[in-house]
Amino acid sequence: MIPYGRQSVSQQDIDAVVEVLRSDWLTQGAVVPRFETAVADYCGAAHAVAVNSATSALHIACLALGVGPGDLVWTSPISFVASSNCARYCGADVDFVDVDGETANLSPAALERKLAAAKRNGRLPKVVIPVHLTGQSCDMEAIHALSRRYGFRIVEDASHAIGGSYRGEPVGNCHYSDIAVFSFHPVKVITSGEGGMATTNDAELAGLMALLRSHGITREPELLTREPDGPWYYEQLELGYNYRLTDIHAALGLSQMARLEAFVRRRNEIAARYDEALGGLPLRPLGRQQDAYSAYHLYVVRLDLARLSRSHRDVIVALRDRGIGVNVHYMPIYRQPDYARFGVNAQDFPEAERYYGETISLPLYVDLTEDLQDEVVAAMREVLAP
Ligand SMILES: *Cc1c(COP(=O)(O)O)cnc(C)c1O
Repeated sequence: MIPYGRQSVSQQDIDAVVEVLRSDWLTQGAVVPRFETAVADYCGAAHAVAVNSATSALHIACLALGVGPGDLVWTSPISFVASSNCARYCGADVDFVDVDGETANLSPAALERKLAAAKRNGRLPKVVIPVHLTGQSCDMEAIHALSRRYGFRIVEDASHAIGGSYRGEPVGNCHYSDIAVFSFHPVKVITSGEGGMATTNDAELAGLMALLRSHGITREPELLTREPDGPWYYEQLELGYNYRLTDIHAALGLSQMARLEAFVRRRNEIAARYDEALGGLPLRPLGRQQDAYSAYHLYVVRLDLARLSRSHRDVIVALRDRGIGVNVHYMPIYRQPDYARFGVNAQDFPEAERYYGETISLPLYVDLTEDLQDEVVAAMREVLAP
């Protein structure tokens, strides 16, 4: 099966990991801060806090912004469940904003409508989490302008988008947000095995997240609230977690950072080749966000079902039968059984519903050869033949 995504690990990556294994520190030693600096510098953010997953990063980002019981967090329904679970971990309630009909990113127009209604009902969100679906930035300027008007904070779920840019600036520079979060899961653009990172320009938020990732404990003299009892002394200042990234994982992530630009360039090449090769078939690629350079975590097409004799499901099954590991990213989160408790009405999300009913993610990863890509295209031509 040709998978929809997979990691690319070089000998250099392996050597970097082995070097850590031979060193004195396995967890959060010298390599984690180097990885943080590499990502912060790349993105042009003042601070970066590495954690063991993007899920953990989203959780401590919400906590750092003060999300708690009684608060409301909004995100995109077309995302991985972690985008909204983070709010629930904090005891907050979750609601969704419909996506744009072209890009399937959180729609600023839908957000504006929902905010106006929420203001009338006195139920405005504390935090909105736009998701840069497939690696393509949301319309952050519009979302940021709304945050000023309605007083919410912004966490970018940039799990798909490291290496992408918006208006010529790297995603993750937090120009239009409080915090941005990256994932280094193996299917994502770069990997650390498991891992995540939060970037921010706010020193206080960075400090809070650094505390929360490690039990809320500090030994920093300037943070201690009392006179130390002795050299062993540390203080727990917040109820934190063990969300630390290990140096082993950070070494892989840091090594992969060196190839990030080449990875994203290659991903864009593969995407452009699909655009060209799939021309004429009853489908169209996901719409492009203006002013955004996508990191192309995923290559998504929308089927033109009116021109097809097969159903969406049949197309996917037929492709899988031919060894093409196509997928759907994602079922709207509110459709998950565990979300039934929020009583979300699918009819309020016509674009998310339409997206779910007609999209397919095709294989896209840096080591996908032209021959393999041609196999994917040939299978598509066969399955979508009239
Ligand atoms: C992968 C992903 C996450 C979670 O990332 P982990 O590092 O696996 O925790 C969160 N949000 C989105 C949009 C993702 O794709």
